[in-house]
Amino acid sequence: MIPPIASRFVAGETPAAAFDHVRRANEDDVKVILNLLGEHYHDRAAADADADAYVSLVRDIGATDLDACVSVKPSQLGIDIADEVFRENVRRIVEAADEHDVFVWCDMEDADTTDATLDAFETLAREFDGGVGQCVQANLRRTRSDLDRLADVPGKIRLVKGAYDESESIAYTDKTDVNEAYRENLKFLFKERDGGIAVGSHDPTMIALASELSAEYGADYEVQMLMGVREDEQRRLADEGVETWQYAPYGDKWLSYFYRRVRERKGNALFALRAVVGV
Ligand code: FAD
Repeated sequence: MIPPIASRFVAGETPAAAFDHVRRANEDDVKVILNLLGEHYHDRAAADADADAYVSLVRDIGATDLDACVSVKPSQLGIDIADEVFRENVRRIVEAADEHDVFVWCDMEDADTTDATLDAFETLAREFDGGVGQCVQANLRRTRSDLDRLADVPGKIRLVKGAYDESESIAYTDKTDVNEAYRENLKFLFKERDGGIAVGSHDPTMIALASELSAEYGADYEVQMLMGVREDEQRRLADEGVETWQYAPYGDKWLSYFYRRVRERKGNALFALRAVVGV
């Protein structure tokens, strides 16, 4: 069982627990992106098993009236084994999702996987007429030209700052430069796309910029934040009529995800410490 300390960031160990979480979030008009925890598999059976779990998940979501979709990780579906394994598994999930009218996002991982991930997205987005979305990272220098390439590809794009340590030669490593790249990429998305823009950020500056750009260019957008992070703001935005999605991981591999959240921010570490010492 997930201890209460981790349950701020993780929606439970089973699909049933995750669905209870979705139901509660939906009551506040916050929609939920479910992610089955798991990454960097080097064993095809593990990658295939998670793909099977996603196929069941999209079927189960489709059978409810919940506002939910899924987000998959390439390394969970076998990209570290071979691009082909990832392509086969992600296609299987998208085919099932298409049948059950459920949207599929793909996370973006380290820069070695960017080309194969974007290739799979472009193929599936064209074939399934936009039922898929792709995350892109503002810290990568290449992202501006990737967005050029994706300008006429249907589907949605989630812009994040980027969570992976990459070398200076391919990435902006200074926070100010990453923020500047985020702003530039966000402007480009609003100029080039009619909609399907997702602001994957907790940063109030970027969320305000999206609102301004939407008023200027008329394109629709959504805000996506992580479960356990600025949830009051998620509810406030939803209440204001901004389409708001919460990325909620679930599954039994919650420990490393929980540590990542604790490590990335002093406030989260204090929260964890307080829970342990009971103050
Ligand atoms: P930061 O630059 O971390 O913070 C900026 C400001 O936001 C802070 O000054 C503060 O005002 C506010 N803020 C941030 N966190 C908090 C908090 N805990 N409490 C209060 N205020 C806060 N990365 C990838 O590389 N690949 C992915 O596929 C991916 N998917 C993601 C999906 C979603 C829905 C989200 C939200 C993030 C995802 N990320 C992904 C992570 C992302 O790249 C960033 O590492 C992460 O979101 C931190 O950047 P930030 O934009 O939220 O703001």
